[in-house]
Amino acid sequence: MTSDASLQMLKGVGPALAQKFAVLGLKTVADLIDYYPRRYEDYSAVTPIAQIIPGNVSVRAVIKQAKGRYVRRGMHITEAVASDETDSVRIIWFNQPYREASLKSGQEYYISGNFELSHQRLSIMNPSIELVSDMPLNTARIVPVYRETKGLTSRQIRAALGQVITDIQALAETLPEWIVKEQGLYSRSKAIMHMHFPDSVEDLEEAKRRLGFEEVFQLSLAALSNKYELMTESAPVVPFEERIAKEFVSHVPFPLTTAQRKVVWQIYQDMQKAHPMNRLVEGDVGSGKTVVAAMAAVMVLHHGHQVALMAPTELLARQHAETLQKLLEPLGFGSQVGLLVGGMTAAQKKRAHAHIASGDIRFMVGTQALIQDKVDMHELELIIVDEQHRFGVEQRKTLQAKAGHMPHVLSLTATPIPRSLALTLYGELDVSVLDVKPPGRTEIVTKIVSPNSRDQLYTDIDAELAAGRQMFVVCPLITENSEITALSAEEMYELMQKKYFKHRRVGLLHGKMKPAEKNEIMQQFVDHEIDILVSTTVIEVGVDVPNASIMLIEGAERFGLAQIHQLRGRVGRGKHQGYCYLMMSDSKAPSKRLRAVESSSDGFRLAELDLQLRGPGAIYGTMQHGQLDLRIATLTDVRLIAAARETAQQFIDKHENLVQYPYLMQQVARLRAVTNLN
Ligand code: ADP
Ligand code: MG
Repeated sequence: MTSDASLQMLKGVGPALAQKFAVLGLKTVADLIDYYPRRYEDYSAVTPIAQIIPGNVSVRAVIKQAKGRYVRRGMHITEAVASDETDSVRIIWFNQPYREASLKSGQEYYISGNFELSHQRLSIMNPSIELVSDMPLNTARIVPVYRETKGLTSRQIRAALGQVITDIQALAETLPEWIVKEQGLYSRSKAIMHMHFPDSVEDLEEAKRRLGFEEVFQLSLAALSNKYELMTESAPVVPFEERIAKEFVSHVPFPLTTAQRKVVWQIYQDMQKAHPMNRLVEGDVGSGKTVVAAMAAVMVLHHGHQVALMAPTELLARQHAETLQKLLEPLGFGSQVGLLVGGMTAAQKKRAHAHIASGDIRFMVGTQALIQDKVDMHELELIIVDEQHRFGVEQRKTLQAKAGHMPHVLSLTATPIPRSLALTLYGELDVSVLDVKPPGRTEIVTKIVSPNSRDQLYTDIDAELAAGRQMFVVCPLITENSEITALSAEEMYELMQKKYFKHRRVGLLHGKMKPAEKNEIMQQFVDHEIDILVSTTVIEVGVDVPNASIMLIEGAERFGLAQIHQLRGRVGRGKHQGYCYLMMSDSKAPSKRLRAVESSSDGFRLAELDLQLRGPGAIYGTMQHGQLDLRIATLTDVRLIAAARETAQQFIDKHENLVQYPYLMQQVARLRAVTNLN
């Protein structure tokens, strides 16, 4: 059979069943082979009947008589007796009338099922049963359990797989032989064979190790290939001038932290090279990334070239433009900062374009509009991407294409990425960490609150509001959803306005509003014309309102730890004590996750915890890396990751040619497209 043969070629798979397979995305033999089990049930221990105890068991026994009958309308039972040298046991199937005819008296079978008490007699209930003379698929072994769909059971999937064993055995190796040998890995064929038909627990582990290794190896090779390719590109050299850096620092109203100094220094070093910088700055919320970005920009502006900063939201872009203008003013570059966002009128945009063309504006701050618009960027030497994970690779490529050459790229993110994940996903990036917070920050007080204590909480909050502070209320949904118990932003807005805080000024902000409306509401909040801003997570990134001291998160259990941590970073930015209240949807005991965010203010620790408790999916989700699709490897397996990464480096050092490995080449090409810049 060829691997692209339709599953209908298999015995027992007609058009109807093929439809069911298609529901699971399985159309060809290759799809089926590639369909890994979700979990396994261990029926491998074959027990003498005299020694079996209640629970899951397997026996090897000869079937005596098998008889079926209706005990009442709609209730059929098939009873049989199975014996080995030690004893006999009763076997019962409910509503499987075909059993009687299919069982052969006097033949030896493997029988695996649940051993329990029925009508005062011990029986094996609804077991799987297979002739000892056949290769068992469902009995007396570690049995794989697949993701099923209505009308298609794991048993049927196993039966289909049982027919393609020769195809699995014929699978070609996809890794270079020297890697398989040096790492002591199963061949691809053996590994996949044992994913579906493991001989033992150890054997299954080996199969997973091989396939997991291959995944991380491919990913690392993709990242490294990107890195090396970038190193062959040339980029404009930005000479470092100490005088400019010193002058900038002398005008900043606070001393830079040691971490800020170190990172700025690294950036200056990078930009002095003739190859494009590709640096990611990870810094917790409030660690002062904006000043770092401004210092990178000032050196480029000084040499008369262009800088672009992209932010994920218009709100944030506007705020950045304002901050950067102020920071760059003393050096005479303030007026070179210009804003370009979708919400601007055609006339405003036209004016901005004219200023860019004439060179009056050299530092363009904006959102995606920067990419979409016809902006003259031929002198672009530095791209700064704030909240880097919010931009797709395509967008970044477009921006690079506009420059006509490879500019330097500086990415900023407040999503702390655990080291193991960063090494794998961002192998091509140089990573700097802003691990020191500016001094004088008070810790934000974080508290989990049960809905029973709502009234008391609101009394406490009102005292803060009376003292002149402001509050963010974040809800997981915009509008009411009958399936989810959490309050929506719209409902909450009504409640706050009409019931709880009648005497305060309440505003509503959510992602479905027009940009102009959003800006207006946000501006009102900044100007303190609004006391309470009810919103969705649109305010998650970056927004700076120093007078806001309270963050109330509704339905807190629905948010990821990193997300809550980001939200919490919106308060306590000024001189006032910040409070973050995590309101639960019900009065059940809070989870370990929520308690962690209550007791820790370390973003990296929380991200590690999210990785452990919820798996990489949770972190991928926020980084839009779903396509990376690690199916077997776990990113907490430090040893596997280190080995795969080292091997990828060796592969490059040996000048191996990917063309020799067509499958690997195809995978690497796919992954290069979804990992960072290429
Ligand atoms: P983020 O890393 O979240 O982008 P920002 O750049 O917005 O952080 O900085 C947060 C606040 O901290 C700003 O008000 C900024 O002026 C201030 N800040 C930055 N660096 C320092 C420093 N070294 N000392 C004191 N305050 C600082
Ligand atoms: Mg920021």
